[in-house]
Amino acid sequence: MTEPFAKLQQQTLLFDADDTLWENNIYFERAIAAFISYLDHRVHTNEEVREHLNLCERATIAEYGYGLQSFRRSLVACFEQLTDTEITAEKHARIVAFTESISMAEIELLPKVAETLKDLSQRHRCILVTKGNLEEQTDKLERSGLKPFFSAVEVLAEKKEAAYRELISRHVCDAPNTWMIGNSPRSDVNPALAAGLNAIFVPHDFTWVLEHEVVDNPPEGQTLLELSRFGDLLEHF
Ligand SMILES: [Mg+2]
Repeated sequence: MTEPFAKLQQQTLLFDADDTLWENNIYFERAIAAFISYLDHRVHTNEEVREHLNLCERATIAEYGYGLQSFRRSLVACFEQLTDTEITAEKHARIVAFTESISMAEIELLPKVAETLKDLSQRHRCILVTKGNLEEQTDKLERSGLKPFFSAVEVLAEKKEAAYRELISRHVCDAPNTWMIGNSPRSDVNPALAAGLNAIFVPHDFTWVLEHEVVDNPPEGQTLLELSRFGDLLEHF
């Protein structure tokens, strides 16, 4: 997938945030493991509970969007559906605590992110393009220390082809010189390619299962690169 080319100048670089710039999904995985262990189901295996939680998450996100409030709703729904009992105040409080452990996590930048962005932002237009809850995502950006490197920040409800097309026109991006960089085939790579952009896939070992998808081949005239490390961006830009 990767072929070397000369460093490009003055591109527009669109960056995903969660699991591209900083750790995110590992905190959810820890909370889910704690939830499953708390549930300690007599009939279902841990894998079955996890499968059911994935179903609950899809349903909750469709109704309420991404974010910690949705995650809390999903845990509560999963608990109620699998145990077939009303949730007591005490049990509810325990489940809320699993969610709070995520919001209290420090921002942990992925390797070389700060120095790479600092360098790139001097030669390119860098825009943050994330999805989720506006307040949660802007709070994480503030705490990350990365905000000065971005000329604009977009928090989208979903990262689909139409959303990318709107973003391209809103920021007057020249598609052949615009790149979406992220860890998610489903939200970063494939819809960006469909919208006419170039894409850079930077896989993360613990990408959320709801973001898994086969990476599409780029349409003719567009480029898709796969980089194993964020810092490798400096070889291309
Ligand atoms: Mg991501």
